[in-house]
Amino acid sequence: MSVEGLSVNFATIKQGGSFGTLVDACLAHGITTISPWREQVHGVGLEEAARIVSQNGIRLSGHCRGGFFPAADAQGRQAAIEDNKRAVDEAAAMNADCLVLVVGGLPAGSKDIVGARQMVEDGMAALLPYARQAGIPLAIEPLHPFYAADRACFNTLKQSLDLCDTLGAGTGVAIDVYHVWWDPDLKEQVARAGRNGQILAHHICDWLVPTTDPLNDRGMMGDGVIDLKGFRRMIEKAGFSGPQEVEIFSHNWNSRPIDEVLSTVVERFKTVC
Ligand code: ZN
Repeated sequence: MSVEGLSVNFATIKQGGSFGTLVDACLAHGITTISPWREQVHGVGLEEAARIVSQNGIRLSGHCRGGFFPAADAQGRQAAIEDNKRAVDEAAAMNADCLVLVVGGLPAGSKDIVGARQMVEDGMAALLPYARQAGIPLAIEPLHPFYAADRACFNTLKQSLDLCDTLGAGTGVAIDVYHVWWDPDLKEQVARAGRNGQILAHHICDWLVPTTDPLNDRGMMGDGVIDLKGFRRMIEKAGFSGPQEVEIFSHNWNSRPIDEVLSTVVERFKTVC
């Protein structure tokens, strides 16, 4: 029986092997919605990945990931746009709901975060016509400010939605509880995103206390301090009815058998989310 409303991001079970193996493991646990990473798709080849997706009736709540637009020179920025076009192609071939963007931080040697944000805007503006043509919405994922320097210089929902408003149709946000749960403007900005049809994806996990490594020490739902049921009520009230995608970067969970991880994900999804 399938678990309604649950998606599993393949970072959560990346220890489990090839794309096909991970899909089979999800299916065995009733999980029919996934979000893979580009290298996992490249591992089997796009054609084979797309075949596995369509033959098994799999939905992609997102394709991970595009972005990283800022670069030290124009050639680097153009290369990023070209690489993002390939990511759009992949998302389209697998009929993904959106391409998730980790937009990028400061170019090497730079101290100009305002300039980096402009590079993100320019890069997305250059990519957008291609993505619209392919029917793939671009989802900016605001990351916790911890990541501003090296991964994403867009760190709040408001800032990300303002950019979506500037860029227009075909853009929106991936709302990851891990990155935005602390934001005093959360409720207002989630409602705003919902009103404008800009909630493209919703990622869940938990914030552990203490957190020593925000990149690879994320918690299983229920093990931390995020009010996941409250978050779900808020995002559903805003009109979002898509899947909740479990995305847990964790040395702990990535060291366990994936059947144990997936059983825990399903159990926690049903009880604490
Ligand atoms: Zn996420």
